[in-house]
Amino acid sequence: MKLCMIGTGYVGLVSGTCFADIGNQVYCVDKDTDKIKKLNSGISPIYEPGLNELIKKNSSAKRLVFTTDLKKAVSLSDIIFICVGTPNKKGSLKVDLSYVYKCTKEILSHAKAKKIIVTKSTVPVGTGDEIEKILRKKKKLFTVISNPEFLREGDAIRDFRYPDRIVVGSNEKKELVSMKKLYLPLINKGAKFFTTTRRGAELIKYASNAFLATKITFINELANLCEKTNINIEDISLGMGLDSRIGSRFLRAGPAYGGSCFPKDTKGLVSVAEKSKENLSLVKSVIKSNQNRVYLLTKRIHKILGKNLKNKRISFLGVTFKPNTDDMRDSTSLFMIPYLIKKGAIISYYDPSGKKKEFNKLKNCNYTKSIKENCSSADLVVILTEWDEFKSIDFKKIIKKNNFKIYDLRNLYTAEDMKRNRIKYFSIGRPETN
Ligand code: NAD
Repeated sequence: MKLCMIGTGYVGLVSGTCFADIGNQVYCVDKDTDKIKKLNSGISPIYEPGLNELIKKNSSAKRLVFTTDLKKAVSLSDIIFICVGTPNKKGSLKVDLSYVYKCTKEILSHAKAKKIIVTKSTVPVGTGDEIEKILRKKKKLFTVISNPEFLREGDAIRDFRYPDRIVVGSNEKKELVSMKKLYLPLINKGAKFFTTTRRGAELIKYASNAFLATKITFINELANLCEKTNINIEDISLGMGLDSRIGSRFLRAGPAYGGSCFPKDTKGLVSVAEKSKENLSLVKSVIKSNQNRVYLLTKRIHKILGKNLKNKRISFLGVTFKPNTDDMRDSTSLFMIPYLIKKGAIISYYDPSGKKKEFNKLKNCNYTKSIKENCSSADLVVILTEWDEFKSIDFKKIIKKNNFKIYDLRNLYTAEDMKRNRIKYFSIGRPETN
């Protein structure tokens, strides 16, 4: 099939590349000329394991084309996927749909033959209806379908190839046949093809993300309780997770949830509900609890190092919201690091996905190129992201100071090991051993 992906971010680029890999002709369009230039020279603008190789393979087979020419891509395609960003409006719970509506208008002006328009972006209930209104001048040409994406950054290729389910929402039964045909290679490998109304599909995406965010927040709050009651949160997670009704995933205590989806989608869902005069009080408290968690964990650094942080050297291992991605959106580090610098601390950070532009303007925030360089003169090492290479560090060997401390927000190490090595070690939701 001939497909056009509008937006070559985490979703458009990965799904476009994977669609090409299962034999489709894919035109990936972005208005960002630098991104397209990079892609045309075989370099992925995002960090996603395995993606570079897949891009090269499918580009050289000419199944995958990168372009800024939307007009041409639209005219050559049967199905057009909208994969642009849907951030929150600044300082509001509401979703900014301007990118979605702008590219819809562009599709309208370029389309001359029948097209299926698919929203892969996460969009509030009723967005498909609004898209239809924008397209009404040529309404016979278009069918608007919702096909939300569930891939996770860091595991995106695997998630695309082996999804638990493919959700497609359409008010027209006929076009579902084309969508099923497109996804047949994945359905044949066991993916469930679930169809519903367009509004239903739009809500499934928000509801799923809000539910997972609730699970994380629940276990994070229990971790606070465990710290006060001398219980290990990991026992609680395991003991609960063994119940098949609960399941063990998204039940590991750690920092506040971040990334490009959960923070904005929980807020987006609340704003959708408010529009319908419904009060999603549970999701509202999840949002609040998650925001509080960032403060709570930052305050704990004072407990570890004392009130006065002037000239204290704090080294961050990982600054992204999760491993195997370069995505910094809503990472806890974006609050923690500027706060600590304001209090006089000197920050260094190492992240396997590289230097972060978000910290470029901060004084006393230095990017280092290795774990050793990052930690050697630390008073405190903060393990923020569970990249594999942080899991077996010999801290005694690489840190020069005698009385350094470790604050492990991912519980990568055991308190017993640290005690044996006489390292002052603090983690999440475990009995205090120092
Ligand atoms: P992103 O910000 O990484 O990428 C969006 C891209 O769209 C950018 O490259 C931008 O330049 C491009 N763009 C915007 N307007 C355009 C236009 N008019 N024409 C051409 N290109 C245009 O966003 P993302 O993380 O890929 O997310 C996209 C959507 O998918 C969002 O709604 C998000 O909620 C959803 N989603 C994201 C993830 C994830 O893990 N990132 C997972 C599932 C769903």
